[in-house]
Amino acid sequence: MAVPSRQDLIVMKFGGTSVAEPDDIRRAAARIVAARERGNRVVAVLSARGQHTDELVAMAREVSDRPEPRELDMLLSVGERISCSLCAMAIHDLGHQAISLTGSQAGIVTDSSHTKARILDVRADRIREKLDEDRIVLVAGFQGVSGDSRDVTTLGRGGSDTTAVALAAALGGDVCEIYTDVLGVFSADPRLVPDARKLPIVSFEEMLEMAASGAKVLQLRAVEYARNHAVRLHCRSSFDDAPGTLVLAEHETMERPLVTAVTHSEEEARVTMTGVRDEPGVAGRIFGALAGANVNVDMIIQNEPVEPQHGADLSF
Ligand code: ADP
Ligand code: ASP
Ligand code: MG
Repeated sequence: MAVPSRQDLIVMKFGGTSVAEPDDIRRAAARIVAARERGNRVVAVLSARGQHTDELVAMAREVSDRPEPRELDMLLSVGERISCSLCAMAIHDLGHQAISLTGSQAGIVTDSSHTKARILDVRADRIREKLDEDRIVLVAGFQGVSGDSRDVTTLGRGGSDTTAVALAAALGGDVCEIYTDVLGVFSADPRLVPDARKLPIVSFEEMLEMAASGAKVLQLRAVEYARNHAVRLHCRSSFDDAPGTLVLAEHETMERPLVTAVTHSEEEARVTMTGVRDEPGVAGRIFGALAGANVNVDMIIQNEPVEPQHGADLSF
């Protein structure tokens, strides 16, 4: 029986911890089925199980010091496929029809920059077809296919968030639910700051700022995509039914506090170059070379040389 089009479409995304063990996969399957039984059409995006992506990266490094990016993407995309096929099996056991799709089968078209590809287009007709057949559709997160080379690509670490948001935007989803291992977005990382507060609502702008400065609970690109396509996010726990955090446009949020959250990052290094010639064009050459190597640079500090012939210190 075809599903009437008035049904709401929900995109649900489950992170690595939410599908780590067999019981977790069955729990995710039960949530997906519950959403379906409430009358929604459901697309679920899954991450690789537990630390599987890290294990795959380590596997590549056992064989090669500098794994070929195209082949690394072939390898890394496997993790999400495993999660989706297993979850489809669990959904079948609950008496529902599900189909798992790779990013490529789901129509996620990207550029060709392996390991950090950008989504250029979502050709979701196959997903729509399966939804019309009354199926739950499971999509492998974090991956796509290059429109030029037709090779498998991956979207950068944490990229399943972006897959989910892109699908919600393309399919006109009412909400994109991001299921994770914490109760929502907090005023600081709840694993490090025990009395951090769960924030019921944050604006896209606040969330962008937080993601950019280290709060990995939502991938930065996913938040950018959600803001650009007006996709509301609901970030919540896989292990608890309580509502989590809504990420909405600024005008939908009420009066906001001046300070929303404190973030941290363990993935930055400070580099200081001493004796840098203090003349126009020198900084441009340095940062041009870094940009050419795709190195993200933040917080640039340059002091005045003590004496003209001394050179400046440049830190970033
Ligand atoms: P998933 O595998 O579900 O995508 P992630 O590990 O990518 O989950 O993101 C969830 C983690 O983000 C939490 O376990 C938490 O430690 C961390 N985190 C960092 N900052 C925050 C924050 N401000 N609020 C909530 N979680 C945060
Ligand atoms: N599995 C990928 C990662 O660990 C993508 C994701 O989880 O979103 O980065
Ligand atoms: Mg994540």
